[in-house]
Amino acid sequence: MHSAAGPTGPVTVCTSMPFPLKGKQMDYAVYLTRKSKNRKTGPIPVSTTGRATCPTSCPLMGKGCYAEAGPLAIMWKALSRARPGRSFAFGRGSGKALTWSQFCKAIAGLPEGTLWRHNQAGDLPGIGDAIDHKALAELITANAGRRGFTYTHKPPTKANARAIANANRRGFTVNLSADNLAEADNLAELGIAPVVTILPAEVDRRVYYTPAGRHVAVCPATYRDEISCASCQLCQHPRRVAIVGFPAHGPGKGKINGA
Ligand code: SF4
Repeated sequence: MHSAAGPTGPVTVCTSMPFPLKGKQMDYAVYLTRKSKNRKTGPIPVSTTGRATCPTSCPLMGKGCYAEAGPLAIMWKALSRARPGRSFAFGRGSGKALTWSQFCKAIAGLPEGTLWRHNQAGDLPGIGDAIDHKALAELITANAGRRGFTYTHKPPTKANARAIANANRRGFTVNLSADNLAEADNLAELGIAPVVTILPAEVDRRVYYTPAGRHVAVCPATYRDEISCASCQLCQHPRRVAIVGFPAHGPGKGKINGA
């Protein structure tokens, strides 16, 4: 299971089977939407990765995922069963589950400077809590000259922290996702990545502070219809100091206490 904070909120689903390639290398099913219709992301390229990448340590597992209902859930469930490189059907639609290398090739083919979001659902490559360094390095290289950003709930173990810091250094922005303000402080202390956090559903301010006094800016796409990631771009800044806060929403928002 996995949860990823972002403009579409936290996401949690059960894990599925990974797909081994030769040796120990794994493959991951990825769906790339070239022009998102999501109002909060705006019309940018958005990817979705199969649920096998979701960290098993995620505390939101089954407890607050907006993607457990609605169109994204239908597509994600189908993608997570699909074999990388094969077509898959979801609802009335269908698409192609790209292999990881096909996905990286597609990202490398985006025009220079393109802002794109990795993983409206799913997490960094790697099964469960682990990060697949080789696959992430392939994506970092593909993203060179583009402006990709994503969020991760994978635990910042020594090996994971090294991979995340490297991604941020090399222009692929990986935000660390916290589930509350105290955890946001802990993640910010690591100094390896910008941080986002879930806030209570009933937030009534646009600025919050963590227990240690860090500034938390509420994602403007959550309260202003004319703003999307395409115009805001805050989550793409790898050296951002402000923590971005997302009010809990979705079917399980009542189960989330982001305070
Ligand atoms: S803060 Fe900006 S970039 Fe980040 S999710 Fe919200 S609208 Fe998108």
